[in-house]
Amino acid sequence: MVNEKIRGAEGHLLHIYNRFPVALDHGEGVYLYDTEGKQYLDFAAGIGVNGLGYHNAELNDALKAQLDKLCHISNLYYHENCGAAADALAAASGMDKVFFTNSGAEAIEGALKTARKYAWTKKSGRYEFIAMNHSFHGRTVGAVSVTGHSEYREPFEPLFPGVHFAEYNDLDSVKALVSEKTCGIILEPLQGEGGIHPAAQEFMEGIRKLCDEQDILMICDEVQCGMGRTGTMFAWQGYGVRPDIMTMAKAIGNGIPVGAFAMTERVAEQSLKPGDHGTTYGGNPLACMAVRKVLEIFEKEQIVEHVKKIEPYLTARLDELTEKTDCILERRGKGLMQGLVLTKPFAEVNRRALEEGLLVISAEGNVLRLLPPLIIEEKHVDEMIEKLERALS
Ligand SMILES: *Cc1c(COP(=O)(O)O)cnc(C)c1O
Repeated sequence: MVNEKIRGAEGHLLHIYNRFPVALDHGEGVYLYDTEGKQYLDFAAGIGVNGLGYHNAELNDALKAQLDKLCHISNLYYHENCGAAADALAAASGMDKVFFTNSGAEAIEGALKTARKYAWTKKSGRYEFIAMNHSFHGRTVGAVSVTGHSEYREPFEPLFPGVHFAEYNDLDSVKALVSEKTCGIILEPLQGEGGIHPAAQEFMEGIRKLCDEQDILMICDEVQCGMGRTGTMFAWQGYGVRPDIMTMAKAIGNGIPVGAFAMTERVAEQSLKPGDHGTTYGGNPLACMAVRKVLEIFEKEQIVEHVKKIEPYLTARLDELTEKTDCILERRGKGLMQGLVLTKPFAEVNRRALEEGLLVISAEGNVLRLLPPLIIEEKHVDEMIEKLERALS
């Protein structure tokens, strides 16, 4: 499926990704096409990035026009896209202040620095973080330090000091780790890489209460579960539990590399000040045009409402498949972020799915992870079920 010219040309790339044997060429809507013209139904969306799917004419036109005007100017100057993108994100999230980064991991770094600076400003002596087992927050040293996955951590230890790991959805395990040194508690409202585990309502509420009582900052990582994927613009909104700091990336730029961290006014006033943080590329006019336009399209096309509408159909079809298929133990997830716990090795199922022309990904615990573009229709769900059923047989 991969032509040798493309495979061979990878010789000087550091071999660090185990790529699937597919070389993609272009996309249209929820379909991708390989270099031989074979069509794939995409239920991976570039790991949750391409929320609007592929070849969105309105987005692409805006990006092309921006590219012809200015791509980069540095953060020494003003550009209208910057403030406009921040306004749109603030309106969508209910957060007050936004900082643009180039990736999810960088957004995490910024969130950790914000929490440390908040404690420093308040002279509280707090510097420790509580993170969750099976979490994933990215690959930079700070992000790995709060990632609860030993394979990602051990070769790089010692990492950032003062991080303790609690059990996800076990409030007592969090409480047991809280001390007068805790400055932040970081969690994904729906764990993605860790195996598609949604947070329980009581867990989110309990952490909020704990943070309020002790002036600890609650940090929600919305890099994967945000931007409409779970049926609310950001997953925490589905719980009615507002964090103090949140991180975003993946779908906010629909493929243009951009991330952000955002915070409440209260945190902003007492944390990062000029000189404390920065980035050369972050929030450049092209990246901010992507965010601006993506959010505009989300609103105009009522993407979040669409996710809410299609979710029951997707979950019903997946439950039906789970029921009748021996090698699926369980379905977990919310909205268009779903996981099927398999008893067959994922690699085997994936190989068959690729033959069928279906793209899916995996998550920890032999979970088959489904993260389709948010624009899928019922007919795409039906097509996915048919292909998956054959891949599992
Ligand atoms: C993907 C991901 C990240 C890291 O984002 P990068 O852009 O790859 O650095 C962080 N947190 C979560 C929850 C993610 O899914």
